[in-house]
Amino acid sequence: MSDSASRPARPPRAESREAVELHAIRGRHPELATAVDLHLELLELQRRIQVRVPLPTLDLSEATLKRHQSDASPLLRFEDIPLDLTDLRLMVRQTADVLRRFGALDESDHAKAQAAGRDMNLTALASQWYRSAAERQVAATAGAASTSANAAADGDMLQQVLALSMRPFLSRCAEVLQQRAELAMWTHPHCALCAGEPDFSVITPAAERHLICSRCALRWKFEPLTCPYCRNSNRARITSFATTDGQYRVYACDVCRRYLKAYDGRRATRPVMPMVDTVATLPLDAAAIQRGYSS
Ligand SMILES: [Zn+2]
Ligand SMILES: [Zn+2]
Repeated sequence: MSDSASRPARPPRAESREAVELHAIRGRHPELATAVDLHLELLELQRRIQVRVPLPTLDLSEATLKRHQSDASPLLRFEDIPLDLTDLRLMVRQTADVLRRFGALDESDHAKAQAAGRDMNLTALASQWYRSAAERQVAATAGAASTSANAAADGDMLQQVLALSMRPFLSRCAEVLQQRAELAMWTHPHCALCAGEPDFSVITPAAERHLICSRCALRWKFEPLTCPYCRNSNRARITSFATTDGQYRVYACDVCRRYLKAYDGRRATRPVMPMVDTVATLPLDAAAIQRGYSS
């Protein structure tokens, strides 16, 4: 008898904290089961790639941060992302498969994403997607009409697949900046690293609000009652409401009609987990949309 046959079976790999929390949500809210399962699969795909991504070397000197703060431009250049083309192509194809399986992509969008995932020029597409956020910020600052709406109509689903596929690479870059004290100098409503828009936030125990980037998950401090989308700071025109357990909160802007969700860390037993909290707050999205706001 071989040695390995008598050895006890290897225990299953430990679940990430996010996966444990997602399972708990499914237990408490069976109506969110499909969303939970979709996010468990996306989480697993991202984890598998993310462990292979090396930490980038970034120039984050105080002088560099000061310069970027003053011209509101993101710190990370596309060419500095530790991007592996083989991994990115795999990520795009597998992400498209998962979204298709859960009915979040129709057949023709799935085919388009699969083709993009096989394309040796995928880097060019990713670069275009990456730079579009900074371009939007420049246009918004200049007060120019946004041209992204037209471009988004056709490529919208592909943009979403790309965003999910770039996440393991961008999150690694965000880890480097997140640890730097100089990040506190950043006062803009878009991401200091990648220029992405926030799509979630967290209220700290000190009652500060930190925005969370929709693309790289970087967190940075921002005024608690200013709309990050249109900078309206008139409190009378910000509507705020919370879940009955007080765990989550919505800040809705009555000027631009957009809203931002927050995890209230003042009464929390765990840190904010964007992937988990996005699923847990799906009922809150429905409530905000019903009141006439959009994300
Ligand atoms: Zn970012
Ligand atoms: Zn607004």
